Amino acid sequence: MSNHIETDAIRTQTERSQFLEHSTPMYLTSSYVFEDAEDMRASFADEKQRNIYSRYSNPNTTEFIDKICKMEGAESGYAFATGMSAVFSTFASLLNAGDHIISSGSIFGSTQTMFKNILPKWKISTDYFKFNQLNTIESLIQPNTKVIYAESPTNPAVDILDLELLGQIAKKHNLLLIIDNCFATPYLQQPIKFGADLVIHSATKLIDGQGRVLGGVTVGKADLIKQIYLFSRNTGSALSPFNAWVLSKSLETLAVRVDKHCENALKVAEFLEANTNVNLVKYPFLKSHPQHALAKKQMKLGGNIIAFEIKGGIEAGRQFINAIKLLSLSANLGDTRTIVTHPASTTHAKLSEEERLEAGITPGLVRVSVGLEHTEDIINDIKQALES
Ligand SMILES: *Cc1c(COP(=O)(O)O)cnc(C)c1O
Repeated sequence: MSNHIETDAIRTQTERSQFLEHSTPMYLTSSYVFEDAEDMRASFADEKQRNIYSRYSNPNTTEFIDKICKMEGAESGYAFATGMSAVFSTFASLLNAGDHIISSGSIFGSTQTMFKNILPKWKISTDYFKFNQLNTIESLIQPNTKVIYAESPTNPAVDILDLELLGQIAKKHNLLLIIDNCFATPYLQQPIKFGADLVIHSATKLIDGQGRVLGGVTVGKADLIKQIYLFSRNTGSALSPFNAWVLSKSLETLAVRVDKHCENALKVAEFLEANTNVNLVKYPFLKSHPQHALAKKQMKLGGNIIAFEIKGGIEAGRQFINAIKLLSLSANLGDTRTIVTHPASTTHAKLSEEERLEAGITPGLVRVSVGLEHTEDIINDIKQALES
Protein backbone atom coordinates (compact mmCIF):
# COMPACT_ATOMS: atom_id res chain seq x y z
CA MET A 1 0.00 0.00 0.00
CA SER A 2 1.49 3.34 -0.97
CA ASN A 3 0.92 6.49 1.01
CA HIS A 4 -0.53 9.78 -0.16
CA ILE A 5 1.86 12.57 -1.19
CA GLU A 6 1.20 14.54 2.02
CA THR A 7 2.18 11.52 4.12
CA ASP A 8 5.28 10.72 2.05
CA ALA A 9 6.42 14.34 2.44
CA ILE A 10 6.25 13.99 6.23
CA ARG A 11 7.01 10.34 6.96
CA THR A 12 9.94 9.70 4.62
CA GLN A 13 12.79 10.02 7.06
CA THR A 14 16.46 9.31 7.52
CA GLU A 15 17.22 6.52 9.98
CA ARG A 16 17.22 7.81 13.56
CA SER A 17 20.53 8.21 15.34
CA GLN A 18 21.32 6.82 18.82
CA PHE A 19 19.42 9.82 20.28
CA LEU A 20 16.09 8.69 18.78
CA GLU A 21 15.24 12.21 17.63
CA HIS A 22 11.68 12.72 16.32
CA SER A 23 12.59 15.36 13.73
CA THR A 24 15.61 14.77 11.47
CA PRO A 25 18.68 16.69 12.74
CA MET A 26 21.14 18.52 10.52
CA TYR A 27 24.17 16.48 9.51
CA LEU A 28 26.75 19.22 9.09
CA THR A 29 29.65 16.98 8.21
CA SER A 30 31.78 17.03 5.10
CA SER A 31 32.93 13.42 5.40
CA TYR A 32 32.36 10.07 7.14
CA VAL A 33 34.52 7.46 8.86
CA PHE A 34 34.99 3.79 8.02
CA GLU A 35 34.86 0.75 10.33
CA ASP A 36 38.03 -0.82 8.96
CA ALA A 37 40.08 -1.37 5.81
CA GLU A 38 37.52 -3.73 4.29
CA ASP A 39 34.66 -1.26 4.89
CA MET A 40 36.73 1.43 3.26
CA ARG A 41 37.58 -0.71 0.23
CA ALA A 42 33.99 -1.89 -0.33
CA SER A 43 32.62 1.65 0.03
CA PHE A 44 34.94 3.05 -2.60
CA ALA A 45 34.23 0.10 -4.89
CA ASP A 46 30.52 1.11 -4.73
CA GLU A 47 29.77 -2.37 -3.30
CA LYS A 48 27.74 -0.84 -0.48
CA GLN A 49 25.57 2.23 -0.30
CA ARG A 50 26.86 4.48 2.44
CA ASN A 51 27.93 8.05 2.95
CA ILE A 52 31.56 8.73 2.05
CA TYR A 53 31.75 12.45 1.40
CA SER A 54 28.96 15.06 1.33
CA ARG A 55 29.58 15.95 -2.31
CA TYR A 56 28.45 12.37 -3.07
CA SER A 57 25.68 12.04 -0.48
CA ASN A 58 24.61 13.19 2.99
CA PRO A 59 21.71 12.03 5.21
CA ASN A 60 19.92 15.38 4.74
CA THR A 61 20.22 15.46 0.95
CA THR A 62 19.24 11.79 0.77
CA GLU A 63 16.10 12.43 2.82
CA PHE A 64 15.15 15.39 0.60
CA ILE A 65 15.72 13.35 -2.58
CA ASP A 66 13.79 10.34 -1.22
CA LYS A 67 10.81 12.57 -0.48
CA ILE A 68 10.78 14.12 -3.96
CA CYS A 69 11.14 10.66 -5.54
CA LYS A 70 8.14 9.30 -3.66
CA MET A 71 6.05 12.39 -4.42
CA GLU A 72 6.92 12.32 -8.14
CA GLY A 73 6.75 8.53 -8.48
CA ALA A 74 10.42 8.43 -9.47
CA GLU A 75 12.99 5.64 -9.02
CA SER A 76 15.95 7.77 -8.05
CA GLY A 77 17.33 11.31 -7.87
CA TYR A 78 20.18 13.72 -7.13
CA ALA A 79 19.99 17.14 -5.42
CA PHE A 80 21.79 20.27 -6.58
CA ALA A 81 22.88 23.64 -5.18
CA THR A 82 20.37 25.48 -7.43
CA GLY A 83 17.65 24.78 -9.95
CA MET A 84 20.00 25.85 -12.74
CA SER A 85 22.72 23.44 -11.63
CA ALA A 86 20.05 20.70 -11.82
CA VAL A 87 19.13 21.77 -15.37
CA PHE A 88 22.74 22.16 -16.54
CA SER A 89 24.10 18.98 -14.92
CA THR A 90 21.20 16.93 -16.30
CA PHE A 91 21.95 18.02 -19.88
CA ALA A 92 25.73 18.00 -19.48
CA SER A 93 25.75 14.46 -18.10
CA LEU A 94 23.32 12.89 -20.59
CA LEU A 95 24.23 14.63 -23.86
CA ASN A 96 27.34 14.37 -26.01
CA ALA A 97 28.92 16.89 -28.34
CA GLY A 98 26.79 17.22 -31.48
CA ASP A 99 23.48 16.19 -29.88
CA HIS A 100 20.24 18.08 -30.52
CA ILE A 101 17.47 19.25 -28.17
CA ILE A 102 13.86 20.06 -29.02
CA SER A 103 12.53 22.52 -26.48
CA SER A 104 9.39 24.44 -25.77
CA GLY A 105 9.96 28.11 -26.60
CA SER A 106 8.37 29.14 -23.29
CA ILE A 107 11.03 28.24 -20.75
CA PHE A 108 12.84 29.85 -17.82
CA GLY A 109 15.21 32.67 -18.89
CA SER A 110 18.49 31.09 -17.71
CA THR A 111 17.57 27.78 -19.35
CA GLN A 112 16.93 29.71 -22.56
CA THR A 113 20.38 31.34 -22.23
CA MET A 114 21.98 27.97 -21.55
CA PHE A 115 20.49 26.49 -24.75
CA LYS A 116 21.36 29.57 -26.83
CA ASN A 117 24.82 30.56 -25.54
CA ILE A 118 26.35 27.79 -23.43
CA LEU A 119 25.51 24.34 -24.84
CA PRO A 120 26.55 25.44 -28.38
CA LYS A 121 30.15 25.52 -26.99
CA TRP A 122 29.88 21.70 -27.22
CA LYS A 123 27.96 21.84 -30.53
CA ILE A 124 24.72 20.93 -28.78
CA SER A 125 21.94 22.73 -30.65
CA THR A 126 18.30 23.44 -29.82
CA ASP A 127 15.16 23.97 -31.89
CA TYR A 128 11.93 25.29 -30.41
CA PHE A 129 8.22 24.53 -30.65
CA LYS A 130 5.28 26.64 -29.52
CA PHE A 131 3.39 25.58 -26.40
CA ASN A 132 0.17 25.02 -28.40
CA GLN A 133 1.75 23.50 -31.52
CA LEU A 134 3.08 20.18 -30.31
CA ASN A 135 2.26 18.77 -33.77
CA THR A 136 5.34 20.62 -35.10
CA ILE A 137 7.72 18.63 -32.86
CA GLU A 138 8.02 15.67 -35.23
CA SER A 139 9.16 17.96 -38.06
CA LEU A 140 12.03 19.21 -35.83
CA ILE A 141 13.44 15.74 -35.10
CA GLN A 142 16.93 15.12 -36.50
CA PRO A 143 19.05 11.95 -36.41
CA ASN A 144 21.01 13.46 -33.47
CA THR A 145 17.95 14.56 -31.44
CA LYS A 146 18.08 13.20 -27.88
CA VAL A 147 15.69 15.20 -25.72
CA ILE A 148 12.31 16.92 -25.68
CA TYR A 149 12.25 19.59 -22.96
CA ALA A 150 9.32 21.61 -21.59
CA GLU A 151 7.78 23.43 -18.64
CA SER A 152 4.08 23.58 -17.78
CA PRO A 153 2.58 25.93 -16.69
CA THR A 154 4.89 28.32 -18.53
CA ASN A 155 6.54 31.49 -17.26
CA PRO A 156 5.30 34.21 -17.36
CA ALA A 157 2.32 33.62 -19.68
CA VAL A 158 0.87 30.67 -17.65
CA ASP A 159 0.17 28.57 -20.74
CA ILE A 160 -0.35 24.81 -20.39
CA LEU A 161 1.42 22.11 -22.43
CA ASP A 162 -0.16 18.70 -22.95
CA LEU A 163 2.18 16.42 -20.98
CA GLU A 164 0.52 13.19 -22.10
CA LEU A 165 0.92 14.14 -25.76
CA LEU A 166 4.57 15.09 -25.15
CA GLY A 167 5.05 11.69 -23.49
CA GLN A 168 3.56 9.90 -26.51
CA ILE A 169 5.73 11.81 -29.02
CA ALA A 170 8.90 11.17 -26.97
CA LYS A 171 8.12 7.47 -26.66
CA LYS A 172 7.28 7.02 -30.35
CA HIS A 173 10.64 8.50 -31.40
CA ASN A 174 12.67 7.06 -28.55
CA LEU A 175 13.60 10.50 -27.16
CA LEU A 176 14.03 11.46 -23.52
CA LEU A 177 11.25 13.67 -22.15
CA ILE A 178 12.53 16.04 -19.47
CA ILE A 179 10.04 18.29 -17.67
CA ASP A 180 10.85 21.27 -15.43
CA ASN A 181 7.98 20.90 -12.94
CA CYS A 182 8.89 23.93 -10.84
CA PHE A 183 5.69 25.94 -11.31
CA ALA A 184 3.39 23.02 -10.46
CA THR A 185 5.37 21.32 -7.65
CA PRO A 186 5.05 17.54 -7.16
CA TYR A 187 1.88 18.20 -5.17
CA LEU A 188 -0.07 19.58 -8.16
CA GLN A 189 1.38 17.58 -11.06
CA GLN A 190 3.49 14.44 -11.56
CA PRO A 191 4.91 14.41 -15.12
CA ILE A 192 6.27 10.84 -14.81
CA LYS A 193 2.66 9.61 -14.89
CA PHE A 194 2.37 11.16 -18.34
CA GLY A 195 5.58 9.65 -19.69
CA ALA A 196 8.39 11.95 -18.53
CA ASP A 197 11.75 10.21 -18.06
CA LEU A 198 13.16 12.92 -15.79
CA VAL A 199 11.62 15.72 -13.73
CA ILE A 200 13.59 18.77 -12.63
CA HIS A 201 12.72 21.23 -9.86
CA SER A 202 14.09 24.52 -8.75
CA ALA A 203 13.45 23.94 -5.03
CA THR A 204 14.13 27.65 -4.53
CA LYS A 205 10.53 28.46 -5.44
CA LEU A 206 7.43 26.83 -3.91
CA ILE A 207 9.32 23.87 -2.41
CA ASP A 208 11.18 26.17 0.00
CA GLY A 209 8.27 28.55 -0.37
CA GLN A 210 9.62 30.96 2.22
CA GLY A 211 12.32 32.74 0.23
CA ARG A 212 15.25 31.38 2.28
CA VAL A 213 17.45 28.99 0.33
CA LEU A 214 18.42 27.91 -3.19
CA GLY A 215 18.24 24.32 -4.30
CA GLY A 216 17.43 21.99 -7.17
CA VAL A 217 16.73 18.34 -7.82
CA THR A 218 16.43 15.93 -10.75
CA VAL A 219 14.46 12.69 -10.33
CA GLY A 220 13.41 9.88 -12.68
CA LYS A 221 14.66 6.67 -14.25
CA ALA A 222 17.44 5.01 -12.23
CA ASP A 223 19.83 4.41 -15.17
CA LEU A 224 19.68 8.08 -16.18
CA ILE A 225 20.08 9.28 -12.59
CA LYS A 226 23.14 7.03 -12.24
CA GLN A 227 24.80 8.95 -15.10
CA ILE A 228 23.73 12.29 -13.61
CA TYR A 229 25.06 11.22 -10.20
CA LEU A 230 28.46 10.10 -11.51
CA PHE A 231 28.81 13.36 -13.47
CA SER A 232 27.67 15.54 -10.57
CA ARG A 233 29.64 13.97 -7.76
CA ASN A 234 32.78 14.75 -9.76
CA THR A 235 31.81 18.23 -10.90
CA GLY A 236 30.71 19.62 -7.55
CA SER A 237 27.15 20.91 -7.87
CA ALA A 238 25.84 19.18 -4.71
CA LEU A 239 23.12 20.68 -2.51
CA SER A 240 24.47 21.68 0.92
CA PRO A 241 23.26 19.63 3.92
CA PHE A 242 21.94 22.80 5.57
CA ASN A 243 19.79 23.71 2.54
CA ALA A 244 18.68 20.08 2.19
CA TRP A 245 17.51 20.10 5.82
CA VAL A 246 15.53 23.33 5.23
CA LEU A 247 14.01 21.97 2.01
CA SER A 248 13.10 18.61 3.53
CA LYS A 249 11.29 20.43 6.37
CA SER A 250 9.58 22.64 3.78
CA LEU A 251 8.18 19.60 1.99
CA GLU A 252 6.33 18.65 5.18
CA THR A 253 4.12 21.72 4.73
CA LEU A 254 4.09 21.85 0.91
CA ALA A 255 0.54 20.53 0.51
CA VAL A 256 -1.08 22.92 3.00
CA ARG A 257 0.90 25.88 1.69
CA VAL A 258 0.19 25.16 -1.97
CA ASP A 259 -3.52 24.57 -1.24
CA LYS A 260 -3.70 28.06 0.27
CA HIS A 261 -1.55 29.62 -2.51
CA CYS A 262 -3.97 28.18 -5.08
CA GLU A 263 -7.09 29.26 -3.15
CA ASN A 264 -5.72 32.83 -2.90
CA ALA A 265 -4.65 32.84 -6.55
CA LEU A 266 -8.07 31.75 -7.82
CA LYS A 267 -9.75 34.54 -5.79
CA VAL A 268 -7.27 37.16 -7.07
CA ALA A 269 -7.78 35.89 -10.65
CA GLU A 270 -11.57 36.15 -10.28
CA PHE A 271 -11.23 39.69 -8.92
CA LEU A 272 -8.98 40.70 -11.85
CA GLU A 273 -11.32 39.15 -14.40
CA ALA A 274 -14.17 41.34 -13.13
CA ASN A 275 -12.06 44.55 -13.18
CA THR A 276 -12.58 47.01 -16.04
CA ASN A 277 -8.93 48.20 -16.10
CA VAL A 278 -7.80 44.71 -17.05
CA ASN A 279 -7.92 43.22 -20.56
CA LEU A 280 -7.02 39.64 -20.09
CA VAL A 281 -6.44 37.39 -17.10
CA LYS A 282 -4.69 34.04 -17.41
CA TYR A 283 -4.94 31.52 -14.62
CA PRO A 284 -5.18 27.79 -15.41
CA PHE A 285 -8.19 27.16 -13.17
CA LEU A 286 -10.27 30.07 -14.54
CA LYS A 287 -12.87 28.76 -16.97
CA SER A 288 -11.75 31.43 -19.46
CA HIS A 289 -8.19 30.01 -19.69
CA PRO A 290 -7.69 28.65 -23.24
CA GLN A 291 -6.41 25.31 -21.88
CA HIS A 292 -8.65 25.10 -18.83
CA ALA A 293 -9.76 21.51 -19.55
CA LEU A 294 -6.16 20.37 -20.07
CA ALA A 295 -5.05 22.13 -16.87
CA LYS A 296 -7.79 20.32 -14.93
CA LYS A 297 -6.76 17.01 -16.47
CA GLN A 298 -3.08 17.20 -15.50
CA MET A 299 -3.04 19.50 -12.44
CA LYS A 300 -4.68 19.11 -9.04
CA LEU A 301 -5.13 22.90 -8.65
CA GLY A 302 -4.16 25.96 -10.72
CA GLY A 303 -0.88 26.98 -9.04
CA ASN A 304 0.02 30.39 -7.67
CA ILE A 305 0.99 32.36 -10.79
CA ILE A 306 -1.42 34.71 -12.58
CA ALA A 307 -0.66 36.70 -15.73
CA PHE A 308 -2.85 39.66 -16.61
CA GLU A 309 -2.81 42.54 -19.04
CA ILE A 310 -3.42 46.08 -17.93
CA LYS A 311 -5.18 48.33 -20.42
CA GLY A 312 -2.76 51.02 -21.65
CA GLY A 313 0.36 48.99 -22.50
CA ILE A 314 3.87 49.39 -21.10
CA GLU A 315 3.26 52.78 -19.37
CA ALA A 316 0.15 51.50 -17.59
CA GLY A 317 2.11 48.41 -16.54
CA ARG A 318 4.88 50.52 -15.03
CA GLN A 319 2.38 52.87 -13.31
CA PHE A 320 0.60 49.89 -11.77
CA ILE A 321 3.88 48.54 -10.40
CA ASN A 322 4.76 51.97 -8.94
CA ALA A 323 1.40 52.22 -7.15
CA ILE A 324 1.79 48.86 -5.33
CA LYS A 325 2.13 49.40 -1.54
CA LEU A 326 1.96 46.11 0.36
CA LEU A 327 3.08 43.52 -2.18
CA SER A 328 6.73 43.02 -3.18
CA LEU A 329 8.32 44.15 -6.41
CA SER A 330 10.71 41.30 -7.07
CA ALA A 331 11.70 38.93 -9.85
CA ASN A 332 11.36 35.85 -7.65
CA LEU A 333 8.26 33.70 -7.26
CA GLY A 334 6.73 31.05 -5.03
CA ASP A 335 7.21 32.89 -1.71
CA THR A 336 4.83 33.44 1.24
CA ARG A 337 4.92 37.09 0.14
CA THR A 338 2.93 38.05 -2.95
CA ILE A 339 5.28 39.29 -5.69
CA VAL A 340 4.39 41.51 -8.66
CA THR A 341 6.58 41.69 -11.79
CA HIS A 342 6.33 43.56 -15.09
CA PRO A 343 8.20 41.18 -17.46
CA ALA A 344 8.40 43.54 -20.49
CA SER A 345 10.47 46.12 -18.59
CA THR A 346 12.41 43.74 -16.29
CA THR A 347 12.99 39.98 -16.62
CA HIS A 348 12.37 39.92 -20.40
CA ALA A 349 13.57 43.47 -21.27
CA LYS A 350 16.59 42.10 -23.18
CA LEU A 351 14.38 40.30 -25.71
CA SER A 352 13.13 42.09 -28.83
CA GLU A 353 9.47 43.12 -28.92
CA GLU A 354 8.92 40.29 -31.42
CA GLU A 355 10.59 37.66 -29.20
CA ARG A 356 8.52 38.89 -26.26
CA LEU A 357 5.26 38.54 -28.17
CA GLU A 358 6.40 35.08 -29.28
CA ALA A 359 6.68 34.14 -25.58
CA GLY A 360 3.24 35.62 -24.86
CA ILE A 361 4.63 38.74 -23.16
CA THR A 362 2.55 41.73 -24.22
CA PRO A 363 3.69 45.26 -23.14
CA GLY A 364 1.05 45.54 -20.36
CA LEU A 365 1.50 41.99 -19.03
CA VAL A 366 1.88 41.74 -15.24
CA ARG A 367 2.84 38.52 -13.45
CA VAL A 368 1.67 37.94 -9.91
CA SER A 369 3.09 35.19 -7.71
CA VAL A 370 0.28 34.98 -5.18
CA GLY A 371 1.48 34.47 -1.60
CA LEU A 372 -0.07 33.50 1.70
CA GLU A 373 -1.18 36.91 3.05
CA HIS A 374 -4.92 37.29 3.71
CA THR A 375 -6.74 37.22 0.36
CA GLU A 376 -8.52 40.53 1.03
CA ASP A 377 -5.26 42.36 1.70
CA ILE A 378 -3.72 41.06 -1.54
CA ILE A 379 -6.80 42.06 -3.55
CA ASN A 380 -7.09 45.48 -1.87
CA ASP A 381 -3.51 46.40 -2.77
CA ILE A 382 -3.97 45.32 -6.40
CA LYS A 383 -7.31 47.17 -6.51
CA GLN A 384 -5.89 50.50 -5.28
CA ALA A 385 -2.95 50.19 -7.69
CA LEU A 386 -5.28 49.55 -10.64
CA GLU A 387 -7.41 52.56 -9.70
CA SER A 388 -4.54 54.98 -9.14
C1 LIG B 1 13.76 29.65 -10.88
C2 LIG B 1 13.61 28.63 -11.92
C3 LIG B 1 14.70 27.85 -12.34
C4 LIG B 1 16.11 28.06 -11.80
O1 LIG B 1 16.20 27.81 -10.46
P1 LIG B 1 17.31 28.48 -9.49
O2 LIG B 1 17.09 27.77 -8.21
O3 LIG B 1 17.02 29.94 -9.47
O4 LIG B 1 18.63 28.19 -10.10
C5 LIG B 1 14.48 26.89 -13.31
N1 LIG B 1 13.25 26.70 -13.86
C6 LIG B 1 12.18 27.43 -13.48
C7 LIG B 1 10.86 27.17 -14.10
C8 LIG B 1 12.32 28.42 -12.50
O5 LIG B 1 11.25 29.16 -12.14
